[in-house]
Amino acid sequence: MTEPASWRLEHTYTRLPEMFFTEVEPTAVKEPRMVIFNHALAAELGLPEDDAAIYAGNALPPGARPIAQAYAGHQFAHFTGLGDGRAILLGEQITPAGDRFDIQLKGPGPTPYSRRGDGRAALGPMLREYVISEAMHALGIPTTRSLAVVTTGEKVWRQDGGLPGAVLTRVAASHIRVGTFEWAAAHRDPAALRALAEHTRQRHYSDVENDPAALFEAVMERQAALIAKWMLVGFIHGVMNTDNMALSGETIDYGPCAFMDAYDPATVFSSIDRNGRYAYGNQAPIAQWNLARLAEAMLPLFHEDEKQAVEVANGLIPRFEGRFKHHWLAGMRAKLGLMTEEAEDAVLIQDLLDWMKEKGADFTNTFAALATGRFESNEWHLRWSERLKRQAQTADEVSQLMRRSNPAFIPRNHKVEEALAAANGGDLNPLQRLLTVLADPFDHTAELPEFSEPSGQGSYQTFCGT
Ligand code: AMP
Ligand code: MG
Repeated sequence: MTEPASWRLEHTYTRLPEMFFTEVEPTAVKEPRMVIFNHALAAELGLPEDDAAIYAGNALPPGARPIAQAYAGHQFAHFTGLGDGRAILLGEQITPAGDRFDIQLKGPGPTPYSRRGDGRAALGPMLREYVISEAMHALGIPTTRSLAVVTTGEKVWRQDGGLPGAVLTRVAASHIRVGTFEWAAAHRDPAALRALAEHTRQRHYSDVENDPAALFEAVMERQAALIAKWMLVGFIHGVMNTDNMALSGETIDYGPCAFMDAYDPATVFSSIDRNGRYAYGNQAPIAQWNLARLAEAMLPLFHEDEKQAVEVANGLIPRFEGRFKHHWLAGMRAKLGLMTEEAEDAVLIQDLLDWMKEKGADFTNTFAALATGRFESNEWHLRWSERLKRQAQTADEVSQLMRRSNPAFIPRNHKVEEALAAANGGDLNPLQRLLTVLADPFDHTAELPEFSEPSGQGSYQTFCGT
């Protein structure tokens, strides 16, 4: 028997001490109009069909208790107090399967944490988050999801003038960030910190024993796995500040992110990342840096004596590298169809990457060509073929593994821009078409060169979605 779709909102987060949130209502907008609604996701969540008034913040769904969450963060290595300046959490939806997901409006007007910001969002960046987050989900990468984008009938004022305003509904396992722990630590309130850690454990790590070091290690493990998954599809987050790292292990806060075309570890897309802090090849060390900030925040939980607490942290943080390499190597083996393990595999993989860098080869299409037998034979290809012969698996098994480990389609920058430009002008067809292609990224039988070819343009830049 299927239950009728309905809002079933709970509010476990608001049982935390008051420092972690402020109650605030969305500010109604002039003319809510649904631009895109994720029907499949709504069904998973057990939510009723689209209602522009609710997803614009003009009406509250039954059981909503809107809040803005407080957090701090290291932004480009500088510590600062933050909080939801343009997001409001409606509550935690309990799905028909019994799972719990935050339902958050992004762009619903000012909150006590807005500072000089207007609390609003523009249509382009919200659609961008919708496209990229749904593409990531289809690629099998843990991520927040996008349920709806509604235009407001109002303009938001940015450097480039007046832009159509919009509200995105984001769905997340939770919005607890490294920065949330930093917020509690900055208040020097061990009780609040302990409550946050326990809330996090019950919500995301219920199988982990009630021990802060074990919790930290579990968080680290999920981050190592997540960053490896990003690296394996050429994803560049672009703004890995500690407030943009979720304890759930989901990718969160899609701002100036993009997928790499030609393989180059130094690739940066974000216009504000002038020093390449968040470059493709830096993402694992940065994740570890962020986890070190988390460990610092958790010190009072590790041990009451600070020196001993630091020793605990120093014993944990270095383990990240090994865990990341483990996940990355396992993923790379799958991409190359290697179903056994040889010590030399790491060298074989690195030599391919070096070759790609030298040739300026497209990351996605190189692996897709290998998976579909369209890679032109060279010295490396001969070595790889010899390696495949040393395992018992059939060519068919290898091909199957490679086809589901290497996408044919990623959100190509020019296709995303094209779809957003059309949507800004009122034509949603290119966006719908793009979403359809990206929903099935491992379909190597679909010949759609328009969606699989890189743009060829030299340096693509993305901008923060503010
Ligand atoms: P982000 O760079 O998106 O992670 O945002 C960093 C901080 O700036 C967060 O606290 C956001 O809530 C806040 N913020 C971003 N844009 C706005 C805006 N238009 N109005 C108010 N706060 C904002
Ligand atoms: Mg953020």
